[in-house]
Amino acid sequence: MRKVLPPCLLATNSRADLSFERGEGAYLFGSDGRRYLDFFSGIAVTCLGHAHPHLVQTLRAHADKVWHITNNYRIPEQERLAERLIAHSFAARAFFCNSGLEAAEAAIKVARRTHFVEGAPHRVKIVTIQNAFHGRSLAALAATNNEKYLEGFGPIVQGFVQVPLGDLEALRAHLADGEAAGVMIEPIQGEGGLHLCGADYLREVRHLCDATGTLLILDEVQCGMGRTGRLFAYEWAGITPDVMMLAKGLGGGFPVGAILTTQRAASGMTPGTHGSTFGGNPLALTIANAVLDVLMEPGFLDGVVEISNLLRSELTKLHERHPTLFLDVRGGGLLLGLKCTRPAVEYVDALRDDGMLAHTAGDNVLRLMPPLIIRNDHVVEAIEYLERLCQSMSRSVEAA
Ligand SMILES: *Cc1c(COP(=O)(O)O)cnc(C)c1O
Repeated sequence: MRKVLPPCLLATNSRADLSFERGEGAYLFGSDGRRYLDFFSGIAVTCLGHAHPHLVQTLRAHADKVWHITNNYRIPEQERLAERLIAHSFAARAFFCNSGLEAAEAAIKVARRTHFVEGAPHRVKIVTIQNAFHGRSLAALAATNNEKYLEGFGPIVQGFVQVPLGDLEALRAHLADGEAAGVMIEPIQGEGGLHLCGADYLREVRHLCDATGTLLILDEVQCGMGRTGRLFAYEWAGITPDVMMLAKGLGGGFPVGAILTTQRAASGMTPGTHGSTFGGNPLALTIANAVLDVLMEPGFLDGVVEISNLLRSELTKLHERHPTLFLDVRGGGLLLGLKCTRPAVEYVDALRDDGMLAHTAGDNVLRLMPPLIIRNDHVVEAIEYLERLCQSMSRSVEAA
């Protein structure tokens, strides 16, 4: 399938020449009349699949009420979601925005401001991890610190340093000077290539942050909201952050972002210190509440653990059958990757032409982010697509 750059749009994305007319569960129906198995989910966003009955009904029921208010007035849906997220997490307070990069901006501001009101205004440094991805605003780009995204965008925002994933000595050295405001980490690196923070590593990072009064900021924009089979990925490590960033799956396809904070991390945020016109919009938050209804149904997250174990073991077998096409299986929960021996985009393109949507990630990884509602038959079907891809790639290698 050819790739296009529509002349009416900024050429920021090269697109497959395909659009979709409707979706249902784990499937999308293309304008080409074909059905696609969606293991892409719009980058881990449509966590309950497409047209989930509870989300559709919630949207319809809210449509003739209030769409927008802004934060000069109380927004009951916002307070309800905040209270529910707090009840299910480490947090004491929430702030709502519209995207992941806005959550990154808010988290950075919160971390710096905490030290400011605690009488340490020099503590501004944010330590991030190599191969991170935190978004594309100027500050989020500085946190991401990847040449690929920074080139030509002028002076990089100051106050950010990076350490390799897993390197506790490098982190300790950056925290030793008493200049750090926060450490920002993805428990599973999404864009960067599905590198996993081990539980031991996260516990050590928590320990170093505690010892130096540094705030631990977890970026769960991609790996949170049930994707690992717990509501939040940090739960697996038995630690809690001071600040957590959410977006992607939070609205199940409606744009919503958030940060959750401890009482301490909330202490600097007084009236006027931050804001968003759209953030916490009643329509968006009504839908986010509906997403949470489903994620919190008894047994739902346990089902995610089960199906992710099945998918992972089937991917491991696929790797064993095709050691010349894949180097490893990585990631966690339903955020899984296969490191490819040929360019990962070739795998993604061939899968899509056959009828399955997936994505790449950094480090030449084929990334799978199915909706959390998939069942055994979807896993079987996905493995059939992948097996067919491997067979045809192997044949083309032999022919060459
Ligand atoms: C996607 C992503 C972001 C940025 O989110 P946007 O909504 O695209 O701004 C930040 N952090 C992580 C881990 C992400 O996956």
